[in-house]
Amino acid sequence: MPDIASNIISLKQQIPPSVKLIAVSKTKPVSDVLEAYHTGHRIFGENRVQELLSKKDSLPHDIEWHLIGHLQSNKVKYVVPFISMIHSVDTFKLLKIINTEAEKANRVIDCLLQFHIAAEETKFGFNMSEATAIAGSEDFTRLKSVRICGVMGMATFTGNEKQIREEFRYLVGCFNELKLKYFSRNPEFREISIGMSSDYKIAIEEGSTIIRIGSIIFGERK
Ligand SMILES: *Cc1c(COP(=O)(O)O)cnc(C)c1O
Repeated sequence: MPDIASNIISLKQQIPPSVKLIAVSKTKPVSDVLEAYHTGHRIFGENRVQELLSKKDSLPHDIEWHLIGHLQSNKVKYVVPFISMIHSVDTFKLLKIINTEAEKANRVIDCLLQFHIAAEETKFGFNMSEATAIAGSEDFTRLKSVRICGVMGMATFTGNEKQIREEFRYLVGCFNELKLKYFSRNPEFREISIGMSSDYKIAIEEGSTIIRIGSIIFGERK
């Protein structure tokens, strides 16, 4: 059994106070989340809407929930009323739907643009030309119920540190370029969500402002 409380406490001692820690509780029971919660931690992340909704209802209401996994359009309405940040905005269409649902819920939702930076094939994430096309569009300026707070990415699953570092560095470059060209007057555009259990140290060295950690805190997943 992992000692969740001491895992999260010692992790927090190792990261700079300026880096926000998302405790990723996917696949883990509510009792595990509570163990981390009772150390004083309040920021948790889930990658599936269904799991997030069922956990949220049986946990204290002062938890700040982050959605870090792919979000289907038809599920947006379920998370918008309470979510603190959606890290996984991967299409313009999804961003517009979040905006529409947020307007209905009378909220403004903090979002990150997810980039595809890994070598693995996946359907999810923008490249730089897609992201600039969105940020520079007329349509984008009309979205008043979403707030783009920065970028998110996942490095290749590899032991090659140099490759991981290069992928993170590339994303930080994208962030800087977007900031300069489109978000220079948006102080909220300041988040770089990179770093998981296996690569968070590299991510922090490269400029991460948010790390998303599961296994180190809760133990390996099956
Ligand atoms: C599962 C997951 C994490 C955490 O992974 P660990 O390797 O267990 O730290 C981080 N980000 C995303 C998007 C995830 O799905």
